[in-house]
Amino acid sequence: MERARLDRLNDMLGEVLRTNEFYRRKLEGRFALPLAGPEPLSGLPFTTKQELVDDQLRHPPFGSDLTYPVERYVRVHQTSGTTGRPMYWLDTEASWDWWGECWKTVLEATGVGSEDRIFFPFSFGPFIGFWSGWEGARKVGALAVSGGGQSTQQRLKSLLDYGATVLVCTPTYALHMAAEARRSGMNLARDSAVRVTVHAGEPGASIASTRQRIEEAWGARCFDHTGATEVGAFGFACEAPAEEVHVNEDEFIAEVVDPESGASLPDGARGELVLTNLGRVGSPAIRYRTGDLVEPRRGTCACGRDSLVLRGGVLGRVDDMVVVRGVNVFPSAVEGIVRRFPEVEEFRVDVVQSDGMAELKITVEPGAAGAPAGLAEGVVESVRDNLHIRPVVEVVAPGTLPRFELKARRFFRG
Ligand SMILES: [Zn+2]
Repeated sequence: MERARLDRLNDMLGEVLRTNEFYRRKLEGRFALPLAGPEPLSGLPFTTKQELVDDQLRHPPFGSDLTYPVERYVRVHQTSGTTGRPMYWLDTEASWDWWGECWKTVLEATGVGSEDRIFFPFSFGPFIGFWSGWEGARKVGALAVSGGGQSTQQRLKSLLDYGATVLVCTPTYALHMAAEARRSGMNLARDSAVRVTVHAGEPGASIASTRQRIEEAWGARCFDHTGATEVGAFGFACEAPAEEVHVNEDEFIAEVVDPESGASLPDGARGELVLTNLGRVGSPAIRYRTGDLVEPRRGTCACGRDSLVLRGGVLGRVDDMVVVRGVNVFPSAVEGIVRRFPEVEEFRVDVVQSDGMAELKITVEPGAAGAPAGLAEGVVESVRDNLHIRPVVEVVAPGTLPRFELKARRFFRG
């Protein structure tokens, strides 16, 4: 690790160990500062989500991962709590500014600049989601337009009225807006000035067929971004044409470990992403097990950046993988196949038990035009050819399945 980053890591740890109760309990006496060597963090324990959740239960409401007195903090957000009790996360003026800088990196990598008008069709609720993107828009000097407190139809009108050139939302919501627009006789690729879309919250923008669908619907280039409330906005897509996400290694130390044993894995091996952030001293995450499954590689990208790259972005949650008839199946792989069918507007995947064996059931919902003949058979065949398992596919009427503005939930285990 180069000197400057190692110095920042040591400065951060020095400050955190002085006053941060959570990490003091966890780390005191485990190592001596300054850390050195090519893998300076290797002697430190991991931090898990469960530890942080337990800590917040013991020290409500904000827990003890706080380096400063609560009065120093200026922002609070919460996790979506899809896997249990939501967590609250505080930021200081300095760390909130750092979030904005990380998002500036995300936006600049896509070619967005001060001449752009960025539309945020986001409810601006308690989730950090695009609040941080909103700060990033200010950092690049772009005009930020809020789509909060509006219906999808109002958002479409507002996006056109303001002449927005950039859209920031989940991939699912970008597709939903496009479908709503079509129903109202609009063609966003033709009628809107949007040239860039930036997505987070779900892996979609790094799934080739989903990305292509967004690009066609909006007549824009689609970019992925990866981040999490607990760690920050750590990944960005560049203008090179690939389904890959760069890790912002100026601000994050990334490791990839075996999800079972925690042993570190060589470059190129699929594993769980572990992150340490350098700029969130007030409420840091040190060797945090993100639960995200990634396939990293190191090398120079066509864009000229030399960084760790996640192939396919975040592939899914480590615990999302199911074994169906001996085959490892990830939700993103199923999405990648289903989205190749332009007639399918929404879908849902259930893992059901049949005679003690896991089976895949895929429910597909066509757009207003209805399902063409042979749609179900086509999906069955495509899944069989690509994943080597035979799913059950059911076609339901338009409007049957739920729609999502934030994290879409389409994968269920029975
Ligand atoms: Zn690149």
